Amino acid sequence: MEGRDKRAYITKVRDPYMDKKLYKDPTLCPKCGIIFHEKRWQNAPELIKEFQEKGKEIHKKECPACRKIRDKYPLGIVEIRGNFIREKNKEIHSRIKHIAAEEFIHNPLERIISVDNSDERIIIETTTEHLAEKIGKKIAKTFHKSIKISFSDSEKLVRVYISD
Ligand SMILES: [Zn+2]
Repeated sequence: MEGRDKRAYITKVRDPYMDKKLYKDPTLCPKCGIIFHEKRWQNAPELIKEFQEKGKEIHKKECPACRKIRDKYPLGIVEIRGNFIREKNKEIHSRIKHIAAEEFIHNPLERIISVDNSDERIIIETTTEHLAEKIGKKIAKTFHKSIKISFSDSEKLVRVYISD
């Protein structure tokens, strides 16, 4: 797998928002509606309903993704440059949205924090390194562009560059 060694290193760098001790089981995020249960965050409305029906106490606290979005704390940044941006702008954005929606199903903590668009470049900030890599790889493949992934040694942040 490409970038494996570095990734092994990167997983040692702590995501300060992912401290599981911060959350009691179960905790509902009042902002986005996902629930923390059995040590993971899930998009599971049926589980919430089940807890409510059983009269189980559900704690309320913002999830790590919503906190990162509020604090503008990205762990991934995708930078897309090239002439195709002007030409395929709509297509690129709908592709990005689609990728994010797909990833959300697998891990609801994978979110887009912001998308900055101009004629020269698109910059996407994400709550996880994984989502940035995923968006970068899929955009590069779809539009036949080159990709460069750069990991930071000191912080848990990945930068993905897409260009002609
Ligand atoms: Zn949330």
